[in-house]
Amino acid sequence: MPQNIVSVWILGDQLLQKHPAIVVAEEAHGRENVRVVLIESTERIGLLPYQRKKIVLLLSAMRHYVEELRTAGYAVDYIRATGFIAGLHQHLKKHKSEQLFVMAASEYDTRHMQQQELAQLLDLPVQVLPNTQFLVEQYNPNPHPQSGKHYIMETFYRDMRRHFHLLLEEDGTPIGGKWNYDEMNREPLPRQFEVPPPPGFEPDKMTLEVMQQVADAEHGIGSAEGFDLAVTREGAQKALDDFIALRLHDFGPYEDAMSTKESALYHSQLSPYMNIGLLESLDIVHAAEAAYHRGHASLNSVEGFIRQVIGWREFMYWQYWQQMPDLRTSNTWHAKRPMPLMFWNGQTKMNCINHVSNRVLDTGYSNHIERLMIVCNFCLLAGVDPAAVAEWFLACYFDAYGWVVLPNVIGMGMNGDGGRIATKPYIASANYIHKMSDYCESCHYSPKQRTGPNACPYNYLYWNFLIENEAKLRANPRSGQNVLGLRHINGAQRETIQEEATQFLTALAYYEPDPEETKNENVSHRDEMK
Ligand code: SF4
Repeated sequence: MPQNIVSVWILGDQLLQKHPAIVVAEEAHGRENVRVVLIESTERIGLLPYQRKKIVLLLSAMRHYVEELRTAGYAVDYIRATGFIAGLHQHLKKHKSEQLFVMAASEYDTRHMQQQELAQLLDLPVQVLPNTQFLVEQYNPNPHPQSGKHYIMETFYRDMRRHFHLLLEEDGTPIGGKWNYDEMNREPLPRQFEVPPPPGFEPDKMTLEVMQQVADAEHGIGSAEGFDLAVTREGAQKALDDFIALRLHDFGPYEDAMSTKESALYHSQLSPYMNIGLLESLDIVHAAEAAYHRGHASLNSVEGFIRQVIGWREFMYWQYWQQMPDLRTSNTWHAKRPMPLMFWNGQTKMNCINHVSNRVLDTGYSNHIERLMIVCNFCLLAGVDPAAVAEWFLACYFDAYGWVVLPNVIGMGMNGDGGRIATKPYIASANYIHKMSDYCESCHYSPKQRTGPNACPYNYLYWNFLIENEAKLRANPRSGQNVLGLRHINGAQRETIQEEATQFLTALAYYEPDPEETKNENVSHRDEMK
């Protein structure tokens, strides 16, 4: 039997080309003594009724990663077990390893388990290596947040740009003279437009097997049919190249646009690959920056895209670790309603929600502004519990993991964290949706009417929210403006708004989870999926 056998456990969202646990284990013990294990946990996959394409992506990418490692000469176990610990026991029974190496999970509960419980559960020394999937794990721009003033996303973004030397002149000032070109990036789409579609990837034999397995499982949303995402690093790189070549140039102006025709528009759709380790942040932003220097993409598009990656994405992860574990139950607006059923079944006469929810249920995707201004905006105005909204995101979106959903949905979209992520609630009436999309043109409701049988629910819910929370909104200098419009609404009109909002919310159907599907009621154990 070989001596000094050690094991490396790799989580399903850690499919990195250079996994630090492999690197360290190999340096210390030699490749021939390293045993790698990946575990497909039925317990974890069954925590929520996940969108089926999301599960196909994760499982197929894991299995392709195993092949990649085996081709590189590693001994790898791919184990299907009830849970992670059962899978690890199975692996250790076979290999009798002397030590286990892991990379710190990106999510709270799993990292806690790795750091506090794993060694005891396995009766084995465990070395937890720093996570290399996020830039803020290498450079924390604000290591003492409690001592300073409110650290907003824009400041974070500029600090990150300075540190990683992105879009900067030699003297450290931003290229073009400005840090942010957001004011150029709020265009609705022209009436006629044609976007080069993102590349589709024909499923290979391994992916087809996963699709069959996922289709056969009772638990899940939507269909595995039509799955065409990349499942390898090579495929993800092709998706990146395609975006840079064909859609980056127009990404900026239309990044907040929405359309009945499609959701992806000029968006990169690279987040599912980044979030499981097939693409890495710096490679992506360097590719975008190089496109600008080649004259291939406009500055406002490249700056806007880089801000999404190293500003928004990294800020979400940074905030997650600042605010956990309290973030999962943060609920500043004391919202208590369950998730409206229309998001889970796509059945509603509200055209925008109909389009967005059906797309998400079918494909696992809608663009970021639909997530914020259609889904979260509605739920915030309707008083839906932020944890219920987060659960819907985690189940349905193909790129949704706890570290991004909790800050983005509970913090940013639902403003549940008291303004630590977004300094004001993102709320809007139908006016915004009408301006930025064509949803309202073919809707049963009228975006122009505030009350009455044909009035858009966003309208009376918006005004109702302002009436109910007037004092609190006024107290915040950033949201005080919202309530100014209330000066023009008299007492009788206020009453009508409140009555219609109440009637609508009372008549709305709400999601009641199947008790079998949600045996574990604690969101704390449901914010992750690997
Ligand atoms: Fe959505 Fe209201 Fe517009 Fe209909 S009218 S699409 S419900 S915003």
